[in-house]
Amino acid sequence: MRIGFIGLGNMGAPMAKNLVAAGHEVWGHDLHAPMPEGVHGAISAAGAAKDADVVITMLPNGAILRTVAGEAIPAMKTGAVLCDCSTVDVESARAVADAAAKAGVLAVDAPVSGGVGGAAAGTLTFMAGGSDAAFAIVRPLFDVMGQKAVHCGASGAGQAAKICNNMILGVTMIATCEAFALADKLGLDRQKMFDVVSTSSGYSWTMNAYCPAPGVGPKSPADNDYKPGFAAELMLKDLRLSQQAAKAADADTPMGELAALLYETFVETEGGRGMDFSAMLPRFEKRHRG
Ligand code: NAD
Repeated sequence: MRIGFIGLGNMGAPMAKNLVAAGHEVWGHDLHAPMPEGVHGAISAAGAAKDADVVITMLPNGAILRTVAGEAIPAMKTGAVLCDCSTVDVESARAVADAAAKAGVLAVDAPVSGGVGGAAAGTLTFMAGGSDAAFAIVRPLFDVMGQKAVHCGASGAGQAAKICNNMILGVTMIATCEAFALADKLGLDRQKMFDVVSTSSGYSWTMNAYCPAPGVGPKSPADNDYKPGFAAELMLKDLRLSQQAAKAADADTPMGELAALLYETFVETEGGRGMDFSAMLPRFEKRHRG
């Protein structure tokens, strides 16, 4: 396929490389990032989008996506697919899909989980929203860049799945970290805490697979001075998106709201920026009640 790829940063660059390695012709555009090897450079979003069968975007946020989509869609051929893999607000995903439909272009919102490591290894999980026809066209590309793609429903459903998942992740990480900090103060050995919880009803991905306590459980960013991994500010971004969506949909999400507030404080005033999101544990360790 001929693919336009707009946004070749930490995630986009390795994803585009995997598409090139699979034999696709990729035309890339980025305001700042260099073109990865094998990707043809286009001077504009429209240039990357022209003649493409699929245009993939991997951009920082919904406002930028709307601007880029406004440039790319008019250049796209009828029946081509605009596939946004960024994590953005549900409203932006739906607005872009509407604009695409008016221009005779198909749209899929397909945010990913798996991070930079998953992008490089081609093992991302895609959560997709859009029509069956659009999903069928991009599915082979998901198979190249990832190991799993779930078609979640109509436009916006991919973003909805992503922010709900990450709201659970943020809340669970905080719960796991505060429980470790409490266990410390109760004199409970961390390894014993792990041994019990990881095989009891408190188990979770954050405890079992990504344990925030250094030296306990499988290797995780905690064992690497809390270097990300998944940075606290990216978790904050996703928690804010969950709260934006909850307000728009009139959903009561008190735990998600508190998690967003805690990560906001951690990132903006407590030195959490640039640290893994599991560095909530050393944060709680240092704190007292009240
Ligand atoms: P990044 O900042 O490294 O890359 C974004 C790229 O977009 C940059 O190279 C930037 O120059 C480019 N860009 C910005 N505005 C542009 C424009 N108008 N035209 C062309 N290019 C433009 O970010 P990233 O880590 O690659 O993340 C991309 C998206 O993936 C985000 O939405 C993020 O939330 C999501 N995501 C990231 C991770 C992760 O671990 N990094 C994991 C899952 C999802």
